[in-house]
Amino acid sequence: MGIGSLLRKKHLDQADITELLSCHEAGDIEQLRRAAWETTTRYCGHKVHFRGLIEFSNICANDCLYCGIRKSNCVVERYSLTVDEVVEAAISCAEHGIGSLVLQSGERTDPAFIDFVVEIVEKIKIATRSDNLPQGMGITLCVGEQQRETCERFFATGAHRYLLRIETTSPDLYRRLHPPGMSLERRKACLQDLKAIGFQCGTGVMIGLPGQTCEDLARDILFFRDSDVDMIGMGPYIVHQDTPLAGGVLGLPLPAVEAFELSLRMIAVTRIVLCDINIAATTALQALHPTGREEGIRFGANVVMPQLTPGRFRKHYLLYDGKPCVDGQEGECAGCLREKIITSGREPGLLEWGDSPHFTRRKHG
Ligand code: SAM
Repeated sequence: MGIGSLLRKKHLDQADITELLSCHEAGDIEQLRRAAWETTTRYCGHKVHFRGLIEFSNICANDCLYCGIRKSNCVVERYSLTVDEVVEAAISCAEHGIGSLVLQSGERTDPAFIDFVVEIVEKIKIATRSDNLPQGMGITLCVGEQQRETCERFFATGAHRYLLRIETTSPDLYRRLHPPGMSLERRKACLQDLKAIGFQCGTGVMIGLPGQTCEDLARDILFFRDSDVDMIGMGPYIVHQDTPLAGGVLGLPLPAVEAFELSLRMIAVTRIVLCDINIAATTALQALHPTGREEGIRFGANVVMPQLTPGRFRKHYLLYDGKPCVDGQEGECAGCLREKIITSGREPGLLEWGDSPHFTRRKHG
């Protein structure tokens, strides 16, 4: 079936999605892009929302085979921001007109870490209240798999979104990418818990992993749809030289250009299938292409995440080689992204939370 006919279908099945993800002709890709752009405008409007990104610690208890901050990487200089440093970064974020932030870190489940997260959320909510943000900034947590009671505590403290990437829904690939203690089923259960607690819930995958096929990615999109998530953060897999995956233990990843183009098609098809969710144009897109985030917006993304981690720590939060924005100053990234949004033909959504329309519909019908 041609791309035009597929795009006119009401319900896309796995074979349809695989075909869309596999398209290569420039004309087909443009049709796909345009359909994604129109779907974004229709369901989410013209705005692209900001999430200031604060990477508050690179200490991680996990050992994912692809990740630059995995616990076995002894080359990494480990850091944790203090409570005051995180709150200061959040205030600076609000001063740049950004209404929401993402607090991201390596994964720990010890009581000191959990108390720390609770404390920073509480303090940020109070410190960033203003006429525009009467309840303080919107907070997304991205701190990995936690016990249900811990997530309930985070939610009660005022964090209202949670991002937990499933990474891949292929059981075989998941097993090969993670150490034996980690489980795809537990990660899925954690996502369900987060939704049941009341979080706006986000997930996502890496694209272009060694051994990953377009069929796998099509099943990932069906998983996003069937788990009824509100947000997606996904991007290309990029090698980090000090990880086991860099040594080719699972084979070669997709070449950068292909991983980039496939990531854009993945954003577009996810938009077309899920319609009213928020989708991020992630930093990893820009690592592979100088206008990667603008392209992400043109293919259906409606969220960007300016780097707000204090400058001196950024070079220690390297998940993959060539991560952009590690040398900039606080706020520089937000200004630059404002320009990128306008260049892409959208409006910057400032001084607001920019919640997922899907969540609003899910909650209030
Ligand atoms: N540990 C937390 C978790 O699992 O949700 C949050 C931090 S983790 C470093 C954030 C994300 O970085 C992961 O979900 C993964 O998809 C992404 N990531 C890690 N290594 C990567 C790589 N080499 N290329 C692209 N993305 C990567």
